[in-house]
Amino acid sequence: MAAKRIYAFGGGRAEGNKDMKDLLGGKGAGLAEMSNIGIPVPPGFTITTEVCAEYYKAGQKLPKALEPELKAALRKVEALTGKGFGDPSDPLLVSVRSGARASMPGMMDTVLNLGLNDATVAGLAARASNPRFAWDSYRRFVAMFGDVVLGLKPERKEDRDPFEVILDAKKHAHGVKYDKDLPVEALRELVAEFKAEIRRRKGVEFPEAPYEQLLAAIGAVFRSWNNDRAIAYRQLNGIPAEWGTAVSVQSMVFGNMGDDSGTGVAFTRNPATGEDEFYGEFLVNAQGEDVVAGIRTPQKISELKERWPEVARQLEDARETLERHYRDMQDIEFTIERGRLYLLQTRSGKRTGLAAVRIAVEMAEERLIGRDEAVLRVEPEALNHLLRPVFDAEAKAAAVKGGRGLAKGLPAGPGAASGKLVFFAQDAAAWHARGEPVILARHETSPEDIRGMAAAEGFLTAFGGMTSHAALVARQMGKVAIVGCGALEFDYHARTMTVETAGGAKVLKEGDWLSIDGTAGEVIEGRLDTRPSEVMAVLVEGGLEPKDAPTYQRFAKLLSWADAARRLRVRANADQPDQARVAVAFGAQGIGLCRTEHMFFGEGKIGPMREMIVAETHEDRRKALAKLLPVQREDFRGLFLEMAGRPVTIRTLDPPLHEFLPHEEQGIAQLARDTGRTVEEIRAQIADLVESNPMLGHRGCRLGISHPEITEMQARAIFEAACDAAEQGVKVEPEVMIPLVASVKELDDQAGVVRRVAEDVFARRGRKVRYLVGTMIEVPRGALTAAEIARTAEFFSFGTNDLTQTTFGLSRDDTGPVLQTYLAKEILPVDPFVSVDQDGVGALMKIAVAGGRATRPGLKLGICGEHGGDPASVEFCHRIGLDYVSCSPYRLPIARLAAAQAALRERAQESKAGDGSAKRARNGKAKPARAAKASPRRARNAAIAVPRARKGAGRRPRARA
Ligand code: PEP
Ligand code: MG
Repeated sequence: MAAKRIYAFGGGRAEGNKDMKDLLGGKGAGLAEMSNIGIPVPPGFTITTEVCAEYYKAGQKLPKALEPELKAALRKVEALTGKGFGDPSDPLLVSVRSGARASMPGMMDTVLNLGLNDATVAGLAARASNPRFAWDSYRRFVAMFGDVVLGLKPERKEDRDPFEVILDAKKHAHGVKYDKDLPVEALRELVAEFKAEIRRRKGVEFPEAPYEQLLAAIGAVFRSWNNDRAIAYRQLNGIPAEWGTAVSVQSMVFGNMGDDSGTGVAFTRNPATGEDEFYGEFLVNAQGEDVVAGIRTPQKISELKERWPEVARQLEDARETLERHYRDMQDIEFTIERGRLYLLQTRSGKRTGLAAVRIAVEMAEERLIGRDEAVLRVEPEALNHLLRPVFDAEAKAAAVKGGRGLAKGLPAGPGAASGKLVFFAQDAAAWHARGEPVILARHETSPEDIRGMAAAEGFLTAFGGMTSHAALVARQMGKVAIVGCGALEFDYHARTMTVETAGGAKVLKEGDWLSIDGTAGEVIEGRLDTRPSEVMAVLVEGGLEPKDAPTYQRFAKLLSWADAARRLRVRANADQPDQARVAVAFGAQGIGLCRTEHMFFGEGKIGPMREMIVAETHEDRRKALAKLLPVQREDFRGLFLEMAGRPVTIRTLDPPLHEFLPHEEQGIAQLARDTGRTVEEIRAQIADLVESNPMLGHRGCRLGISHPEITEMQARAIFEAACDAAEQGVKVEPEVMIPLVASVKELDDQAGVVRRVAEDVFARRGRKVRYLVGTMIEVPRGALTAAEIARTAEFFSFGTNDLTQTTFGLSRDDTGPVLQTYLAKEILPVDPFVSVDQDGVGALMKIAVAGGRATRPGLKLGICGEHGGDPASVEFCHRIGLDYVSCSPYRLPIARLAAAQAALRERAQESKAGDGSAKRARNGKAKPARAAKASPRRARNAAIAVPRARKGAGRRPRARA
């Protein structure tokens, strides 16, 4: 039997239901469901998304077979309404609306009042006892049909809508300001003039026959699936082009029939705050678009009961029924025609992060949904809204409107910050020290800038992608940041920044106020006030008690439910005790990555570090290292104490040594003085260390292999600090991690150094602490030979920043131009430095998991690349059986929620499949027998199927934390 093309609704029942969004679109499914549960809905029918596909397949023609179904569906609507389509005495008028599976608000087209012509307009006038209303509806219909169906649009984008031009002339001729003041005669003339304009400009007659109007309108709505707006919206929201739209044809009800009619929109709870209040507005004697257009100021929904107590009660009932039925906050549209209420739409309402958390928690407490469902309801990223300082929304809008919006970049660190513009990290630190808030703006940042970055309210770079140094530090420190803002140009000598704006170039000087919205990626001139969020005030800033912070309480509750559901553990990337404190406050169960290089930029450390690098003899190098040892030890002790028994993964030195050397005159001269060498000698040595591809050069474990004394010093600092902490009664469990390992022999070399030092320290101190030695898996060869590496490694942590860089052969610091093009051309679906490329990088990860656990069934597995805080990547990590994810402290809530959602979704899938297959696939560790089946050789062979990565070109020795 041929597929059914049309599904009717109305009159208390429907052929479709809420689970048929794929076929009926969100709107069609909602209308069907409302009919089924007794909500008053004007009768109509929905033409399926499959017909949309047929329409395009046939070269934009409606299938012939649609017509008998269409006629039958129209007859049903006529029977339910008691009106006739095209009947001059009591005409049935319909709306023709789009509706895709996912809501695409305002992106596609709609035609209202269809069925009007020179004959039926009289019937409408009689029914409404209001000729003005009838002719007003008619002139609106002709204009809408002319625009949407016949394509009569402004010729150039700066031209005005042709129907508006005629309307304005008419108002002018009648000396009136508003449409509503035009007399009925003028409206009649407008209808004729609109039709003449269509004839003149499009060479066609406006179709008088309602059925012909309907067929044309259905085609036009299908075509609007592919208008520019809809395409752009789909791209931004990842909606596939093949979904297509459904078309809902529904009998019209009128909110503009007089003072006993009206129309409105409402949310069943407040979409901004989540408060359980009926939130919305309505207009008396108006059509839906009048509410949206904002021409008249609508009244609050709470005022409805004063005007129409019975309607208000019915609407309140509908609110209750819909919320209970959908078990979610709904966004509804309604119309009151002559005192009678109709609902025209219901859908799950869009909400802010703040509202999402409140609604989910309160609905669970009301037992409308379960706790697991509450956990699934909140987009993990939405939690960011609860952490970020905020701009006053009105002040920002006014600033942008007043021409202070300057440029846009990548939103690398969400939140809001205002400060005085500085261009050098040293200035940021100095200005901050004297109490001035600063925004650090640079072409790019590097590890040398770290203290200035910590001092800044936020930072802004012209260069770099989402894993650039600035972006990474922003997330780790919870700073507001915009990166890759290509409109900026710097003149560091003149201490100015030029911004290319739509209105021409604008020059800003050091000290000028600048505001950045890192959530929207917007740079705004001047100062805007911010305040810390409630959650931050309780957990980090202090000064607010949980009992006085309801938002914090809900946040904590939701996360406690998430913690109960998740299997993955969460750790933080942190290298300072204060970061560790924040991490613990946000629920860290350990540190997954301490980048020791960050520690060398602190007070009193960079000098000896530089001396160590430029040392010419072993003796000199050892002397410099001896100066570094006590400071590193103190750093580690601080971390161990702060983490109070939780595991701490410390990575040995990773970046190329060149990154630590001074590049400015002053620093070079200082280093010459400190080492008793000449400036020329130091310069020559710096030049010697420059590499053409530093990211693929002398870095990672290669450094420790060339200079074992560096690893030795770091290992000694770690184990001495561990003994110190143990003596202070704190349980410690260091995990020493060797970076950039491609071969087990590299790891053997470095693990040998670490273990030797450990034994030595333990012997001297007369105590032992438990520790592990493991490796990062961050180059393809490491993943492919994981089975061998696991002979030595006691844990793996996936360094997916470098693994992505080396798998794609794409420099992580120069992603800008390539990724922009690739994302625009949909060669890549998402930035692989933000969300794990599951097919490529993920395939390598799976090989490493299988290989590693084949050799060592209990192998501990984690991830510490930036992806550890990305919800989709967290879900992937759950699926492939990692033990933990590690991310910046401020992304821990997101990781906790994402990990819980991954576990809950998997459970739902298992119970659907009823076979527990997902669980079996999940955890090699939990099933050693199965994991043991895969031999190291088999793991290697599997690797052969993976395409080999080409070498990338990391040209610049910078931009990593
Ligand atoms: C990585 O490469 O993913 C990683 C965590 O190390 P880094 O970013 O310090 O190179
Ligand atoms: Mg790395």
